[in-house]
Amino acid sequence: MITKNYSDLEPQFLCDVCSIAVTNPICPSCLTQEIEAWLTLYPNLRNEIMPKLNKYLYKIEDKLADSTECIKCKNKRAAVCPYCFTDFVLMELKKIRANRIVLKEFLEFFNFDFDHDGYSKEAEKLGII
Ligand SMILES: [Zn+2]
Ligand SMILES: [Zn+2]
Repeated sequence: MITKNYSDLEPQFLCDVCSIAVTNPICPSCLTQEIEAWLTLYPNLRNEIMPKLNKYLYKIEDKLADSTECIKCKNKRAAVCPYCFTDFVLMELKKIRANRIVLKEFLEFFNFDFDHDGYSKEAEKLGII
């Protein structure tokens, strides 16, 4: 039994995808804004992927009532942890066959795989990062 008490003020909410406490709460909506800003360099990719990200945001919208406060926008919208969200984005980037340079850049900017046992491990194996 882990007795470590993170905070008495803020209840810990779990990520809707991986069920781990969201410890680095940047909400998918804030991340999408940053991803969109980055993708201005790649207008074609942006046009392809933004509708998918917006659809995802829409899908999780009704789960947001009970979620962690985002450290950026301060809304209680971090229902999905940054890792799971960026994992989803990476998958979508691969689906539309984004090239290695794009994938590498994405992982440089948006790598939330702090334990290094998720997508960054895979990317390393593929020689992307
Ligand atoms: Zn998660
Ligand atoms: Zn936010």
